[in-house]
Amino acid sequence: RKYKREMNLRKKCHNELVRLKGNIRVLCRVRPVCQEEADAEGKSVVSFDSDDDAVLYLSNKGKSMAFDMDKVFPPQATQAEVFQEVQSLVTSCMDGYNVCIFAYGQTGSGKTYTMEGIPEDPGINQRALRLLFSEVSEKMPDWHYTITVSMVEIYNETLRNLLGDNPSEKLDIKMCPDGSGQLYVPGLTEFTVESVEDINKVFELGHMNRATACTNLNEHSSRSHALLIVNVAGFNSSTGHRTSGKLNLVDLAGSERISKSGAEGSRLREAQCINKSLSALGDVINALRSRHSHVPFRNSRLTYLLQDSLSGESKTLMLVQVSPLDSNIIESVCSLKFAQRVRTVELGPASSSR
Ligand code: ADP
Repeated sequence: RKYKREMNLRKKCHNELVRLKGNIRVLCRVRPVCQEEADAEGKSVVSFDSDDDAVLYLSNKGKSMAFDMDKVFPPQATQAEVFQEVQSLVTSCMDGYNVCIFAYGQTGSGKTYTMEGIPEDPGINQRALRLLFSEVSEKMPDWHYTITVSMVEIYNETLRNLLGDNPSEKLDIKMCPDGSGQLYVPGLTEFTVESVEDINKVFELGHMNRATACTNLNEHSSRSHALLIVNVAGFNSSTGHRTSGKLNLVDLAGSERISKSGAEGSRLREAQCINKSLSALGDVINALRSRHSHVPFRNSRLTYLLQDSLSGESKTLMLVQVSPLDSNIIESVCSLKFAQRVRTVELGPASSSR
């Protein structure tokens, strides 16, 4: 009976994936107004429709703007509710899909809360790994899975190996010499995880390494992209069938426009690099949307690294994070407009600037 239940669940997930096939799904999450902001009389400009959970309204100077999403999470939405919406994508990597889940939004809008979460209430990263574990340990007869994990940070167009012995070592992205068109990162540390304890150790190490190389972690993380890359390889011992899927969980750098005026030296370089990779992501999305034969994946490390998860048969989901405050309305409108553009993208066969 358990097997039948699992098969039904899997079929449901599969149908959902077929429905989603080809499109980037965009969810929006609005974070709560925190106590300090309420004390400082920060006002929320966001409202919701109790009959339609796929629309969000922003009101500004008496005018209301509506934004359509695939789903909107109001501030009271729990981590579990958010995860429920992404779990079928997570498990699809067991069927050999490449999956990419991004958190996009200005600094302070809740990206890290959604992806990493807090110790007492973990976010998508931990929940995804835990779910994969429970699935692989109970799954279909004859299937054996290996889960390996890497953590990468992209800062100023430089890739850092967050699980390596030397986190200041810089990594490069290369094309596999076998002509498969696959990319790989020589020297990238991959840990095979076999238990929940292993996952905790991996996260601790990644955090420690991220923190050691910078003086102000908050500032640094708002200017860099953090990627958790999970490879799931399956083998069926009776049929010899193999699957290989990849889950990329990406906490992007803050999307706010950093003023370049007055910025000098390393600050100016940071501003240019963040703008470069986020606008490269936008350019890739626009090229995919208008079905250009040339998609400029190579214009930033971020899009180059994610090339195989942004094209072909891959599944992409973007979580657009929004602050509810009136003082953030300009950035919120920018993020939501970006989200609407992303929603219209259809992922096509891989084509690149190679
Ligand atoms: P970002 O990563 O976008 O810079 P954070 O995730 O650090 O933003 O969130 C900013 C602050 O808001 C943090 O203190 C975080 O704990 C809090 N926060 C964000 N989202 C939520 C939420 N859904 N519920 C409760 N607190 C949240």
